This record gives sequence, structure tokens and C-alpha cells, in this order.
Amino acid sequence: MKIAFVGEAMIELSQSANDRDAVNLSPAGDVYNTAVYLKRLAGSKADISFCSAVGNDPYSDRIVEFLEHEEIATGDIRRDETRNCGLYAIATDESGERSFYYWRDRSAARTLFETDRETAVLEMFDAVFLSGITLAILGDDARRRLMEKLESLQKRSGLQVIFDSNYRQRLWLDTDAARYWTGQAWAMADIALPSLDDEMDLFGEQSESEVMQRFRSYGVRTGALKRGGKGAISLGEEPVSVEPPTVMDVVDTTAAGDSFNAGFLAGILFGRDAAGSIALAQQTAAQVIRFKGAIVPRPDWDRLISEKSFEI
Ligand code: ADP
Repeated sequence: MKIAFVGEAMIELSQSANDRDAVNLSPAGDVYNTAVYLKRLAGSKADISFCSAVGNDPYSDRIVEFLEHEEIATGDIRRDETRNCGLYAIATDESGERSFYYWRDRSAARTLFETDRETAVLEMFDAVFLSGITLAILGDDARRRLMEKLESLQKRSGLQVIFDSNYRQRLWLDTDAARYWTGQAWAMADIALPSLDDEMDLFGEQSESEVMQRFRSYGVRTGALKRGGKGAISLGEEPVSVEPPTVMDVVDTTAAGDSFNAGFLAGILFGRDAAGSIALAQQTAAQVIRFKGAIVPRPDWDRLISEKSFEI
């Protein structure tokens, strides 16, 4: 299965634990995080490419190097000559509350899909994963070009579209545009991976049943609605929910939803049913939130695998 992950990877700056003037640099981003965790879980069962644009700066080099280290193909990453990769910083106050600050308005990824040649790359894949953040950072024409391409490939060659809305209000010019494009993506999605909070926030719904009703109206047959510590519920004919593992030592919930997505997709690739895929997704997220930052360091991950923390 050849899967394209389409989105923006940025450099994350986080304060080092012992010295508030020292920072750690690491690549991150919603689609990027999901790609990394899916490859780690699925190994040779998934042939994963990251499709994006980065700059010619050393930090962009770091993003590409990290992807290659994770055995994710980077041939479809364009190097923009005039822009750099985006950047964000996490500040943590005395009580442990985190705030995020972004420098991404002029990032290279903002120039994605400005030509038909760039969307043509997607013809090579069986599935495409993208998020509402991917859509939000694109200009109007590029967004329309991408969505039309996905729709035509879906009809022509059975491309599978996988979507997570990851609604971030400040990335969108206005709520109407966010609702319109997110709605279009949900209606198109073969696998839908929404979060309850994001959906209620964007669509102004008051309850989970309203959200579930809307997903029925799109005709979504595969996917899961993430509900934080409460455990996810499957989308489709007969929704099933799965009790999530209890996590006593939650350190940082960054990338909880992204790693959940990866676990769910790995479950589907392994031929599991919805409940089995949710179980793997929840186990994956439960481990990721025990570590600081979006990506669990490779040695820790390898230890989790050897301790059989996931039932793969
Ligand atoms: P998002 O990060 O997209 O907002 P959620 O907050 O719903 O998504 O979290 C995604 C998944 O992470 C949940 O479905 C659950 O499996 C797991 N998760 C999040 N918080 C907890 C928690 N406190 N305990 C156990 N699992 C959690």
C-alpha cells in the first residue's frame, strides 16, 4: 500500500528541562507525526511518502533527514528557494501549562500545489492522508486544485482519502471557509478521523449525537471519533466504543490525536475491524502521551515495542 502524507512539517522548539534558555529542536507537524507513527507501527506493510515543500535552510535539511531516518520517502518534498520551513515554540509556565507560538505565515509549505504538476504526484499513490491544517495553510486556488485532484483520482483509480480536521481557528481566514472545506473533505473521506472537540468547535454543535448524525449524513463508513480520555467511538453503520487504557502518568498530550490516527490506520492495514483498530490506536496514543513532545524518541519507542506495549 503506497500512502502519501500531505502537509507541513515544522521545527518544534521546546525548552530544555533544566535550563530555560536552552532549547531542543525537533521536526513536528500533525500530518508528519501521523506519518512517522504509522511507519513505525506498519513497517514494510506501508510504503509511506511525505509530500510537502520545505526550504533550503539547515532546519529543512533536518526535517528531510529525520524522515529518511524513519524510512519515509522524501522524493516528493520540493525545496523552495525563497522560503524556509515553518517554526513553532512551546512555552511551559510554572504550573506546566503549555502555550504554542508559531512562525509559519511565510513557510515553504504555504506554496504547495500552486501548479498542476505538483498535484500530479498524487497519481502514484493508493491512499492520501491530509488534515484540515493542510487545507488551511494553502491559498484558495491551491486548495481547490488539491481537492479536485483527490476527487478525480478517487473516481478514476479508487484512491482512498483519509482525513482529520484538526481545526485550528487562527489558520483560517474565516469560519465559513473552514466549515466549507472541512465539510467537503469529510464528504469525500473514505476514512474519517475527527476529534469531538474540534468538530463541536467548528460546526457549533452541542452534543456528540449531533456530531455522529452529521457523519452519518456524509455517508462515512470507516473511521473513529476521538473523545480524549473517554475513548473513541467508531463511525459507520453500528458504532462501537472501546475502553481506552488508563494512563496514570500523562506527561504531554501533544500528538495524542496524530498517534491515534496512525494506530487506527495500522489496524486497518493489518486487516482489523473498527474495534480492533481503535484498540491499537488507543494503545499507541496512551504510550505517546507518556512522553514529552510530539515524537517519542526512537530508543524509547524500540523499548516499548520490545516490551510488547502494543498488540501489533
Ligand atoms: P486530539 O489530540 O486530536 O484532540 P484527543 O484529545 O481526543 O484528540 O486524543 C486522542 C486520543 O488519545 C484519544 O482518543 C485517546 O485514545 C488518547 N488519549 C488522549 N488523552 C488521554 C488520556 N488522558 N488517557 C488515555 N488516553 C488518552
